[in-house]
Amino acid sequence: MSSHYDVLGVSPEATGEEIKKAYRKLARNLHPDMNPGPDASDRFKAVTHAYEVLSDPQKRRVYDTTGNENGNDSGFGGAGHAGQGFAFQDIFDTFFGAGGSSGPASRVRRGQDALISVRVELKDAVFGVNKKLDVDTAVTCPTCEGSCCRGNSQPERCDICGGSGQVQRAVRSILGQVMTAAPCGSCEGFGTVIKDPCNECNGQGRIRSRRSMTIKVPAGVATGTRIQLGGQGEAGPAGGPAGDLYVEIRVNNDATYVRDGDDLHATLNIPMTAAALGTEVSLETFDGGQQIDVKAGTQSGEIITLKGLGVTHLRGYGRGDLKVHLQVETPVRMDQAQEDLLRQLAKLRSEQYTEGKLAASGGMFAKLRDRLGNF
Ligand SMILES: [Zn+2]
Ligand SMILES: [Zn+2]
Repeated sequence: MSSHYDVLGVSPEATGEEIKKAYRKLARNLHPDMNPGPDASDRFKAVTHAYEVLSDPQKRRVYDTTGNENGNDSGFGGAGHAGQGFAFQDIFDTFFGAGGSSGPASRVRRGQDALISVRVELKDAVFGVNKKLDVDTAVTCPTCEGSCCRGNSQPERCDICGGSGQVQRAVRSILGQVMTAAPCGSCEGFGTVIKDPCNECNGQGRIRSRRSMTIKVPAGVATGTRIQLGGQGEAGPAGGPAGDLYVEIRVNNDATYVRDGDDLHATLNIPMTAAALGTEVSLETFDGGQQIDVKAGTQSGEIITLKGLGVTHLRGYGRGDLKVHLQVETPVRMDQAQEDLLRQLAKLRSEQYTEGKLAASGGMFAKLRDRLGNF
């Protein structure tokens, strides 16, 4: 690969002025108007890149010492080429048409996507729900149906740009005067003007409108789940197709249940006597009444799992579980008879408890230890 000096045809001792002069001359010769050869563009890029490095004293120093710039060659067209008061990309666009000299722009464009959020209850997330929404988006103008014009009138060719949508402008640059194409200010680059715009949409072809719609929120959604509704977003200008509507779900916190993935957790308080003796308890759940069996000798913190009564899996089949955390309630505000009975029970069980022993095991501690590691 030839050096940047070779590319510009100057010696490594060339002054900044000599480098600039050499570059000007080469760049002019490689202008596509003068030199439409297929590799003119590539050579111009190489020449411009060489100039970009050698015209910057700091980059030139790095290049002279390491043989490349910045220790790694990012190639042409990367970031950082537009410094030094000289926009290389602009020159490129001018010479090689990267700026889109491909005729007038179309008025008709696809509309943007729209995003709204909707709140649902936890029960709705468990089973899914149909939700009525008010959506405020642009819609194609019903009066002109997107033509933008009043009645049967039509857009007319722009006099200023002759329908090309672009005007030529002379720009001063290091190469001297170059012509550059810019969107026509009169027709905004469309090549046509609407002389008699539709009253309802002011010639935009779309208006804002509020509409009600009912969406199906599938079972299993969580806060942050987005439902995509194709073509329900903002209508494009001039009858352009609508973007998509995204409905973002927010699930309200529930007074009873805490959700963890697709499992639900809730606490059931049971009296000490029921925990000791065991009992059958009927429970109201999202799925209606359930009988659960509290075994004799139940400890606080034990969990009864009701399989398949959690949240529906959003993808795939089945549901999570409902985990009922049992909380044993110690009696308070006992009358004398109750207190006497309990004292008698304590005596029968030899539980006149006066000496404790600390232990780091069981129940909540075991769980905490699992989570925190050794403690
Ligand atoms: Zn209209
Ligand atoms: Zn124009």
